[in-house]
Parts: sequence; structure tokens; C-alpha cells
Amino acid sequence: MAFTYDDSNIFARILRGEIPCDKVAENDHALAFRDIAPKAPVHVLVIPKGKYVSFDDFAANAAEGEIAGLMRLCAEVCAAEGIGLEEGQGFRAISNAGSHGVQEVPHFHLHIMGGAPMGPMSG
Ligand code: 5GP
Repeated sequence: MAFTYDDSNIFARILRGEIPCDKVAENDHALAFRDIAPKAPVHVLVIPKGKYVSFDDFAANAAEGEIAGLMRLCAEVCAAEGIGLEEGQGFRAISNAGSHGVQEVPHFHLHIMGGAPMGPMSG
């Protein structure tokens, strides 16, 4: 999969303010908002503000400040939602990439899911 970014994807439109989202937290580099179809009691998506297609695009090409900003926002979300190990029972952080990963939206995002046992990972 090439790292060719499509500006019309739904998360790009959320970042541009063209469609609303239920914002949880934000910093200079990343935005966190609730998934529109939650698969867990807490299901938050954390996305970079920069244009990255996937986890590997972001990991390879984002500046260190962007990577730190996104990861720190994840920690902030976990704490605020009461699911971090300091506050709660834990969570799952996953990123689907490309067709084998069944990635629906081609703007890199981490799913932060918790609030109940997630169950074992399955194939
Ligand atoms: P993926 O399969 O790409 O990892 O996950 C994309 C996620 O984005 C899905 O869990 C889906 O429910 C969520 N999603 C799709 N469209 C929207 C939207 O317009 N708003 C929000 N908040 N979430 C969305």
C-alpha cells in the first residue's frame, strides 16, 4: 500500500471542521474523539493532525514531536476516561493498517478501547 494521502477521507474532514466529532482531548499534534460506532464502553480514536495514511507511514515519516504529541494524548485520554493502569483496569490500543488490517479510514488512527474486559485477540 502506497502512502498516498487522500484529503477527502472522513478524518481529514473532521480535522478541517467540515463534519462534527465528539471531542475528548486535543493538543498541537493530535485530536481524540469518540468512535461513532463504539465497540467498547470507552472507544476513542486518536489521530495525528498531520497527513499520514497508516501506522507505518506515521512511524516512518512523522517528526518526533508529532509522535510524542500523539502518544501523550493517548495517555491523557486513558487517564481522563479512567481506563489507564493508574486509574482503572486497563485498555486495548490498536491500529488497523491496509487491507489485511481491515483499515476503513485511510488517515492513521489508534483505537483506545476499554471500560470492560476486551477478551482475547482473535484472527
Ligand atoms: P478502521 O477500520 O479504519 O481502523 O476504523 C475506523 C473507525 O472509524 C471505525 O471504528 C468507525 O466506526 C469510525 N468512524 C467512521 N466514520 C466515522 C465518523 O464519521 N465519525 C467518527 N467519530 N467515527 C467514525
